[in-house]
Amino acid sequence: MAKTAYITHPDCRLHDMGGYHPECPQRLQAIDDYLVSQGMDTLLTSYGAPLVALEALCRVHAKDYVEKVREAAPTAGIVHLDADTAMNPQSWKAALRAAGAAVLAVDLVMRGEADNAFCAIRPPGHHALRDAAMGFCIFNNVAVAAAHALEEHHLKRVAIIDFDVHHGNGTEEMFSGDARVLMCSIFQHPFFPFSGTHGAAANMLNVPLERGAGSKEFRAVVEQQWIPRLESFEPQLILVSAGFDAHREDDIGGLELVDEDYAWCTEQIKKLAQRYAQARIVSMLEGGYNLDALARSVAAHLKELAA
Ligand SMILES: [Zn+2]
Repeated sequence: MAKTAYITHPDCRLHDMGGYHPECPQRLQAIDDYLVSQGMDTLLTSYGAPLVALEALCRVHAKDYVEKVREAAPTAGIVHLDADTAMNPQSWKAALRAAGAAVLAVDLVMRGEADNAFCAIRPPGHHALRDAAMGFCIFNNVAVAAAHALEEHHLKRVAIIDFDVHHGNGTEEMFSGDARVLMCSIFQHPFFPFSGTHGAAANMLNVPLERGAGSKEFRAVVEQQWIPRLESFEPQLILVSAGFDAHREDDIGGLELVDEDYAWCTEQIKKLAQRYAQARIVSMLEGGYNLDALARSVAAHLKELAA
């Protein structure tokens, strides 16, 4: 049995971008409800997400941008940061807690207080750029985690795995050419944000998949491309941008993964972490918009992490 930290905060459910937005508060409720219904909450050690320190946030974001977000936060109603990304009065705190969860997760696994950690957070992060919100994302949580591990814990090699249906363009922007980071991703292409297929730096292993690709194609990428690269990189910590919107029941994208693919992929990540990274894995929620598929897939992911 691994000791798995589960980090979340009620503030992350108060961030609401308006009626019918797929990135909705019910996502976290669905995950929590399902974990309880499966008796899985007892396998996890719960932590409240703290507000991130400005210093940790500004390792990957421009100070001006952080200030701009703070000033944009409305006292009532909703304001848009981009076409898809909005803030209500609670969004500022939710975004600080999401990034704060990422930092706490890294600290817990680095101090050996947990073997691995999952952050049930929103807003998600992997599209957020150094100086701009994008694609439902305000601050880049996984990038904050990676920078914290490198700067505060003095790690030399951190891997970022991203299996969200969308390319993690923000994370790529922040670490492109940084040899301390290896990013391995799959994503549907051509598809939002229409990046990741041209001119990637050597530390970016981006593998586009065509609409309709499913378990077979995904597992082939993991086995034939991700694992060999991760083995030669020998990461000291593995971070996961865990988006579950490549699920076949998720209408936002066109990939065909199933619950078992998330369990299988997590098992592969765990083996790598045990071999190279003292079992240290920090995973954080990105996408996943079909509430049933999201809840089941997160449970499948957590079951392997906690095994
Ligand atoms: Zn996504």
